[in-house]
Amino acid sequence: MGQFESDDAFEPATAAYIHLRDLIVSVVLLPGDELQRDALEKFYGRAAPDVSSLVGKLADQHLVRTGAAGRIFVAPIDTTPLNDSLHFRAELEMEIVRCLAKRGARTVLSDTERLLAEDSAKHGGFDPVGSAALDRGFHATLFAAESMSCVWDVVLAMSANVDRARSIRRAVQGVHQEEHCTYVEIAATIARQDSNTARRWMREHLRSDGLAELAEATNHQVMVKRQTFLYPRNRSIKSDIPTQAFRLGISSGCQAVSTLSKKS
Ligand SMILES: [Zn+2]
Repeated sequence: MGQFESDDAFEPATAAYIHLRDLIVSVVLLPGDELQRDALEKFYGRAAPDVSSLVGKLADQHLVRTGAAGRIFVAPIDTTPLNDSLHFRAELEMEIVRCLAKRGARTVLSDTERLLAEDSAKHGGFDPVGSAALDRGFHATLFAAESMSCVWDVVLAMSANVDRARSIRRAVQGVHQEEHCTYVEIAATIARQDSNTARRWMREHLRSDGLAELAEATNHQVMVKRQTFLYPRNRSIKSDIPTQAFRLGISSGCQAVSTLSKKS
């Protein structure tokens, strides 16, 4: 098992938060999975001297819940705030791409190409955690380009269960590669100052139809019968989902975290 290595782009506590968030949001850690407190402390080390604050932050976003004797579990997917988050994000991000396109911001395209290159260098095949991280990186790039990084932090915090629902859609509908193209299209249309098309691509990317229903149905299915859950399109993942998904999960960090999770 590996040790957590903090991404240089973030200070250690933020990197630990982002890392654990990505694992839950990508649905590699499933609702009901127990996270061992001492394993979290051991794995994140100095990145999370205070695991309680890490857990508290994720609990505020309905990603984890604590049970008796301080036991920590991955929370069920909360679909009640989904519509608020979805509409808020759609309006906000379509306006951001409009503004960026108006001035033909070119950094978005180079940053997006860099993110995609890093992603393909790191991983091979279908990678749920990588997909969630790439999507997070792309949206962060847009907000940063518009000097709205503080707003991005707020949006990220309110998007946890939307992002989980999107991960499910990515898995069950196989839209992984399609999304890569969308990132490039949005960035390229911004660069050539085509704001209408950029907005249209963003609306398409954030399309919300049925997301809440999908999350709810899948969440129910997770609870009822974990084995039938995720990634039906990927034939290599069929039976014991958590184990297989972890093995598939890309980075050594991800494999290491599999030891944090124990089926409840
Ligand atoms: Zn996205």
